[in-house]
Amino acid sequence: MQVFKSVWQRYAPTPETSWLLEQFRGMLNDCIRIGLAENVTSLKSLSLKAYKQLSRYDVASYYKLCAISAATGILRNYRKAKRKNPYVKEPYARRLRLTTCYGFKIRDGELSLPIHAKEHVRISLNQHVQATINGFALRSVTLTEDRLSLAYTNEVQQLEPCGFIGVDRNLDNVTVAATDGTVQQHDLSEATRVKALYRDLRSHFRRNDVRIRREISGKYGRKQRDRVTQVLHYASKSIVEEAKARQYGVAMEKLTDIRKLYRHGNWQGRWYRGRMNSWSYAELQRQIEYKAKWEGLPVIYVHPHGTSSKCSICGKHMKPEENRKLRCPSCGCTVDRDVNAAKNILAAGTLRFGAVGLAHEAMVAEPARVQQSAKSMRGS
Ligand SMILES: [Zn+2]
Repeated sequence: MQVFKSVWQRYAPTPETSWLLEQFRGMLNDCIRIGLAENVTSLKSLSLKAYKQLSRYDVASYYKLCAISAATGILRNYRKAKRKNPYVKEPYARRLRLTTCYGFKIRDGELSLPIHAKEHVRISLNQHVQATINGFALRSVTLTEDRLSLAYTNEVQQLEPCGFIGVDRNLDNVTVAATDGTVQQHDLSEATRVKALYRDLRSHFRRNDVRIRREISGKYGRKQRDRVTQVLHYASKSIVEEAKARQYGVAMEKLTDIRKLYRHGNWQGRWYRGRMNSWSYAELQRQIEYKAKWEGLPVIYVHPHGTSSKCSICGKHMKPEENRKLRCPSCGCTVDRDVNAAKNILAAGTLRFGAVGLAHEAMVAEPARVQQSAKSMRGS
């Protein structure tokens, strides 16, 4: 199985890199426009329609292919979104961002990117980036105005897991329940604090000029994201290390709708908060997924239905109590709601994986089921 990771650093923009990024954005928007006008979404037909029209751009042809491929992805997402909401805005790329899988080289600690057919721009890589990618095959380069990110790949054998961990993300913590019965919580209150801090900062800058507002929220938004990302990296790293030490697969909730985000009731409301939180939920899952896959651990997603309301022991509907506890009227247990949810995710993940893996457990279950059906036959 091929797995991916990426590493980034800042770089000092030059007129060449800025020019290249602007050319790329121009090509991307041309491709999007053509795709919308001609109603094409497949890579092949977009290439046929758009490639010739990109001839006015004097850049290496690698970037034309990459722009067409990026536009295909954007158009596909747009179509999907439009099916759900017919009033969704037509896509247009504002950010300067370029991703290429071709043409780049790394030599003597320098990244060399083609600009025109025979002209290159060089960006020196820092020690951390050089050490991280050392020995791996490079997959792609992503450039933004001041950042450079390299994706690298490895070939791993997926492990046969000895069990699973169920990961439940909450506003202030991640709760992890494992097959061996252990439960661990990772504190994320720092992330919540950062979010609140920047939200507060930004509210002082309320002006009527949309441009000022956008610029400020963009800058603060990025800083905030960076800090939250750091907190999440810390948690995801130790979660995956724990799973790896016990050879456990990872089960998480599929975040299909926003219901889960409003689970705790007391912090919903503003649109922005919802968006920030849904981003950080998805970001934690993304991190856990690529880190686990990198180690060959299977990752599965389970349906979130009932994970927060059902008893993890008997499956009956639970009643909320004070201090984030839930009580089950059926079996009488009282349990922390986050722990309960993590255990439910673990159970759902184990069950789903059970059909293909964890063979020994499936065999333990078999005789019991046979006995039961024999009993019911006798009874009838
Ligand atoms: Zn119960």
